[in-house]
Amino acid sequence: MLKVVVVGADGRMGREVVKAVINEKDIDLVGAVDTRNHGQDIGILTGGKPCGVILAGNLGRVLEETGAEVVVDFTTPDSVRDNLTIILKHKVNVVVGTTGLSEEDVAEIDKRAREAGAGVVIAPNFAIGAILMMKFAAEAAKYLPNVEIIELHHDQKLDAPSGTAIKTAELIKANRDMMRQGHPDEYEKIKGARGGEFDGMRLHSIRLPGLVAHQEVIFGGLGQTLIIRHDSINRESFMPGVILAVRKVVNLKGVTYGLEKLLTE
Ligand code: NAD
Repeated sequence: MLKVVVVGADGRMGREVVKAVINEKDIDLVGAVDTRNHGQDIGILTGGKPCGVILAGNLGRVLEETGAEVVVDFTTPDSVRDNLTIILKHKVNVVVGTTGLSEEDVAEIDKRAREAGAGVVIAPNFAIGAILMMKFAAEAAKYLPNVEIIELHHDQKLDAPSGTAIKTAELIKANRDMMRQGHPDEYEKIKGARGGEFDGMRLHSIRLPGLVAHQEVIFGGLGQTLIIRHDSINRESFMPGVILAVRKVVNLKGVTYGLEKLLTE
C-alpha cells in the first residue's frame, strides 16, 4: 500500500483528492493536513464515513509519524513553497497541483528534489481533456499563429492567468515565431481590456461564481476562426490524473512538469 498524505485536505481540491485516495485499493490515506478544522476525521469532513485520519496542522510532524511516501499538495500559491521545503527535507515524493509557481521556483525545487533523491510532479492541470486541449492548440499554432486565450474559473481562484493558460501560451510560443498581434496602434480605453501579454499573444481571465475551470484557445486566420475549448465541469475531472501522478512519482527523481510527461513515459 502506497502511503499518501494530502495537504490542503480541507480545500475544494484537497477534499476531492481525499475521496479519490480513499477509493483506491492500493493507496492508503495516512495523513491529512490543513490550516483549519484540526481534530476532525477527514472522512466525515469530505461527506463520507469516518476513516480514522484526523485533520492536523503540522506537516513535518505528520510526515514523521506516518512514514508517508507521497504528499499531494493543493494549497495556495503563498504556502506551497514552504510546504515543499518541509516535504523535501523529509525526502518524501510530492505531487503538486497548486498553481502559481514560477519557472525559477520549479528550477529550485528540481535542484532540491534531486539532492533529496525525491520525485516531484508539478502539473498546472490534471484533467486529461485539458492536456489534449493544450496539445491541439500547440499544433494549430503552427498553421494559425494569431491566437488569444480566454480562461474562465470560479471567483475564489487567487492567481491569474491560470497555470493552464500560461502553459498553453508556452507551448504555442515554442511552435510559432514571436509576433505582436492586433493593430500596431491599438490602445486601451480601460486598462487591461486587451488582457495580459505573453510573447505577443493576449491572455484573458474571467472569474465568476458557478464556473469550475474552463479554457478557450481562439485562432484567427483569413476568413476563418478555430476554437479549441475544454471544460472541467467538476473537480472529479482532475482525479484520474492526480492518482496516476501519485502512482508514478515514486519512480521519479527531480521535477516532472506537466501531466503529459506521465502519459507518454
Ligand atoms: P481552496 O482555497 O479551496 O483550498 C486550499 C486549501 O489549502 C484550504 O483548505 C486552505 O486552508 C489550505 N491551506 C492553505 N495554506 C496551507 C498550508 N500552509 N498548509 C496546509 N493547508 C493549507 O483552493 P482549491 O480550489 O482547492 O485550489 C487549490 C490550488 O489548486 C490552487 O492553487 C488552484 O489553482 C489549484 N488547482 C489546480 C488544479 C490542477 O489540475 N493542477 C485544478 C484545480 C485547482
